[in-house]
Amino acid sequence: MRSPEEELADLAKQRLRRELRHLESPQSRSVTMRGGAALLNFSSNDYLGLANDSELKTRFAENIGQHGVGSGASRLVCGTLGPHLELEEALASLKGVKAALTFSTGFATATGVISGLCGRGDVVIADKLSHASLIDGAKLSGATLRVFPHNDLGKLEERLKWARKNTDNDARILVVTESIFSMDGDHAPLEAIIDLKERYGALLLVDEAHAFGIVGPQGRGLGSELDLDHRIDLQMGTFSKAVGLSGGYVCGSRAWIDLLINRARSFIYSTAPAPSLAATIKDALEVISGERGDDLRRTLWARLGQFSEETPASAIVPLILGENEAALTASEGLQEKGFLVPAIRYPTVPRGTARLRITFSAAHTAEDVDALKNALDDSGATG
Ligand SMILES: *Cc1c(COP(=O)(O)O)cnc(C)c1O
Repeated sequence: MRSPEEELADLAKQRLRRELRHLESPQSRSVTMRGGAALLNFSSNDYLGLANDSELKTRFAENIGQHGVGSGASRLVCGTLGPHLELEEALASLKGVKAALTFSTGFATATGVISGLCGRGDVVIADKLSHASLIDGAKLSGATLRVFPHNDLGKLEERLKWARKNTDNDARILVVTESIFSMDGDHAPLEAIIDLKERYGALLLVDEAHAFGIVGPQGRGLGSELDLDHRIDLQMGTFSKAVGLSGGYVCGSRAWIDLLINRARSFIYSTAPAPSLAATIKDALEVISGERGDDLRRTLWARLGQFSEETPASAIVPLILGENEAALTASEGLQEKGFLVPAIRYPTVPRGTARLRITFSAAHTAEDVDALKNALDDSGATG
């Protein structure tokens, strides 16, 4: 039997071993690593700088006073409290859909939704760069999983044709993509994907994890930005990124959501999120969808425009370096200069595409971005 020591040594040899980084400060623009100096943080998904926001911290404390710290049971037993339902109503209304369902995390949302809707005899067709949670949901479901190369519409159509030919009338065919991709920061061609899924009578699940809060009117996501929401069967996302807290959601028609309440195992067999958390997420949605959200988005996009002449498509800017060693060395070099920019390696990204993943936040100042640009220029990482 192989030992954990051997397996870890093997990971280390390939420069794939990962270790936890211990931050001694809250998640914010500048962070302090244990035993180290302060670093400018270009590594978090806290795109609007809300994770340590004073207004939300006050609201969280008040919400704890009002609703308590725990929910006591799963949603279907006795864990559904007012804040859960109010959050779901607020979210559905913001997204302009009939219903929404919230989960403990975005990961639990993806696995619960896909395995709840699909099973043996069904087909899930996913973009190759879809997040691990979407792929795991498809595997868990028992449906046939077919992957198409990233954003390749021709190959997507081939898979749809194949699925039509090889399934019964009753079967579900579910196309899965992200709207903004987590490690590349690029967009999916949503309108063309929707045209195809409609032509072949398939369903579409779009994961807006990296778009919700930062693009579209009121930060409603890429589907809203392109005015396509009404043609997307199921939209999901997370409260753990731009929203600054944690949790996940899916929204769509009343019937899909009611079905998920009956079928999504990560929803059914998991204790409801703390009611104070649900209440604070609703407060954060108010911030995001209001004037302050508009201000934060303006700042974020100004920082992105400042970083490169051609404004990036999202708050995620990858610098692909290829080998694991190159990405690790670049990340370590930046850390010595006072910047936290993570090296991302296989299996998070395909082999041979190890990279620095730079993420921007409305909390960064113009000086922070200039400093990062200078450090990257000096390091030669930008070529
Ligand atoms: C982060 C992420 C998730 C998981 O969300 P969590 O709330 O962090 O569990 C799901 N999908 C995508 C595309 C993500 O980037």
